[in-house]
Parts: sequence; C-alpha cells; structure tokens
Amino acid sequence: MHSELEIYAALLNIPKLEIERVELGKRALNIYCKIVCFDSQTCPSCQKEVSKKTPKYRREIRDLDISGRKVVLHLLVHQYHCGCGRTFSEYFDFVSPGKSYTQRQAKWIFEMSAKQSYLQVGALVDMNPKTVERLCYGQVNFRAIDWGRIHRIGIDEFAFKKGHKDFIVILIDLDAHEIIDLLQFRDKAFIRAYFKGLGDETCAKATDFCSDMWGPFQSLAPELFPNALIHIDRFHWTLHLNKVVDNFQKELRRQNKDEPAFKGLKWKLIKRPENLHESEQKDIGAAFKCAPQLEEIYQMKNTFQPIFDIDFSYDFAVGQINLWIAQANGLKNKYLSQFVDLFERHRANILNYFVNRISSGAVEGKNNLLRTIKRFTFNMSNFQNFRRRVFAFNQ
Ligand SMILES: [Zn+2]
Repeated sequence: MHSELEIYAALLNIPKLEIERVELGKRALNIYCKIVCFDSQTCPSCQKEVSKKTPKYRREIRDLDISGRKVVLHLLVHQYHCGCGRTFSEYFDFVSPGKSYTQRQAKWIFEMSAKQSYLQVGALVDMNPKTVERLCYGQVNFRAIDWGRIHRIGIDEFAFKKGHKDFIVILIDLDAHEIIDLLQFRDKAFIRAYFKGLGDETCAKATDFCSDMWGPFQSLAPELFPNALIHIDRFHWTLHLNKVVDNFQKELRRQNKDEPAFKGLKWKLIKRPENLHESEQKDIGAAFKCAPQLEEIYQMKNTFQPIFDIDFSYDFAVGQINLWIAQANGLKNKYLSQFVDLFERHRANILNYFVNRISSGAVEGKNNLLRTIKRFTFNMSNFQNFRRRVFAFNQ
C-alpha cells in the first residue's frame, strides 16, 4: 500500500508532498495530502519567522488531469501562530494564495484557451467558464508599451461587433510586427486624444505611418506625426483596382442577361493571370470577344501591380504610373476613371511606397489573428476583456 502512494507522489512531482490516501473514482482522483516541511514561514504582520503551527483545514485544489481523470488535491493547510498575536494560513509555492488550481494547471488552461473559447475549455476541463476566464487574465503580464523604440506605425480598423458599425483600431509596430495597442473607437477625436496623451516627443519620433484610405487616419497623420512619411497601405488601394474589373463585369452581366460568356467571371478576373487554369483562360477569352473593353480594363489592372513589385527608383516608377494613367484615361471607362480619381486624391501618400517600401503584411497578419481570436470568443462584446485576451496571446 505504501509503495502505491509513493507512485502517486512521483506522478504529482510536487516537492515535499506526502500523500495520505487516494480515492480513485471513475472520473476523479481525490488525493489527500500535506506538505511535510519543518521550515518556518514569515509572519505577514511582523515579518518574524514562525514555526509554531497546527493543522487547520483542507483546501481543494485542481491539478493536471491524470489519464483522463480530474485530479483534486485535498491539501492539509496549517495555521501558523506568531508571537505577535497574528495567525496566518500556511502558504505554498505551487499554488497561488486564494486560488483553487495549481500554477501548472493554470498554465495549461491558459494555453488551451489560446485557440478556444472559455466555454469550450471550461467544458473540456470541467471548470466554470468564468473561472477559466479569470484564470487566463491572471496569466497575462501587461507590458507597458515601450513607445521609445517604435518608429514605424501601422494602423488598421477591425469590425468589433458583427453587423454594427462598431470599429476598433489596431496599432501595429511595423518593425517588430507586433500589435502595439488596441483602441476602442476609431473617430478622429479619440485617436487624437490617444496620441496627444503620449506626448509630442513620442509622436515626433515616428518616421513612417501607414493606414488605409479612411479619411480620419490620413488627415490626422500629418498633424500627429510631423516627421513621418505618410503611407497608404498597398493592400487597401489594390482592392479598389480589383473592383474596377468586378464592377464592369457586373454591369456587362446586367446588360446582357442571356449572354453565357459573362457568367461566373468574378474570380477568374481577380486571380493573378499566371494562376489561371486553361479552362478559365478560355472562359475569360470568350468574354473578351463579346466585350473588348473588358479585356482592355483587365490588362490595365494587370499592368499596374508590377510597377510596385519591381524595384524601380521613385522617379522611374512615377513615370511609369503617369504613362499608365494616361492610357487609363484614354479608355474613358467609368469605373477606371473612378479609380484614377481615387489614386490622384491619394497620389502623394501612395507613391511614398517607392521611398521605403512599407509592407502591409504585418498589419494584415495581425488582422487575421484578431479575427481568429474573435471567432473563438463568440463575439465577445466587452472591449476591455477582448483587449486583454489579445494581449494574453500576443506576448
Ligand atoms: Zn507576527
């Protein structure tokens, strides 16, 4: 019998733990135990070392499961009696004061929660989801944001509640590719107040600022970051060029409802030409025969991106773009003209791409991370909890 308890002690591997008895149930393993230790503990009142103690009560503590069984330690807690009159409960280094789970159990649950909702984890480990949530927050070390080393800032928005026009703002360190912070609102006054709160000196350090075409971001940027080059994220304006082709093919379909060549074109036109299958090439070829202007616009779309892909000098790239625009204007297509207007309105900031090629990859990657987290939080509606969760899994 004795050796069986020793095996349990070896499995638990908690220093100085002595097991008194074990109740092996179908789904739970109840382990009655105590820490055998003659060391004194420090009195919280007078800081003296106290060794006089008496057994007081049993504390139930969840530990890591063993072979599918939930492990509950029924740990004997002693009461210490200090000469100063203070009594205090024994404390342990494998479980935090007041917690009903060991530190390693907390770590494990925290890791499980990275990709699942608290509800799912709660069900898996047989714990109240609220306890799982609190436990996870306890594991987060909120780092102070070190603005001193942040020079290139990306900003993006994220629909926080589906169906609501409720956007939050993500700030990205474009050098470290990390989320700097999340802001609850995306309106101008809120963002201004946030950055003004950091102090002018911090804002003056920014060398680059990159956002989409959302007006407030672009108009605030020069005011907040006087020394920064302002960029328009390449990923965002590229979407508008795809829309030119898409809108035009939609119009063709509307106007020629019986023409089979115009059906199912959308993705074939958006795909990069080199990724098209032979049959897809045939399909778009047939559509081009019916509508030659669709081909012209499609070619315009495909010749614009490469200007940004090739390592041209600023002046050479601008020359190429001006040629492209002249050609685009010549086509007199409504949708293409709308794109050219948009481009001209943001020309300077789009072209800053050729000064130092700020990549939007980091921003988009983080956006995906947030989407993932959100999916698992069942559209968590409390912003502060959401922010905590993002920081918890982004360290
Ligand atoms: Zn004392």
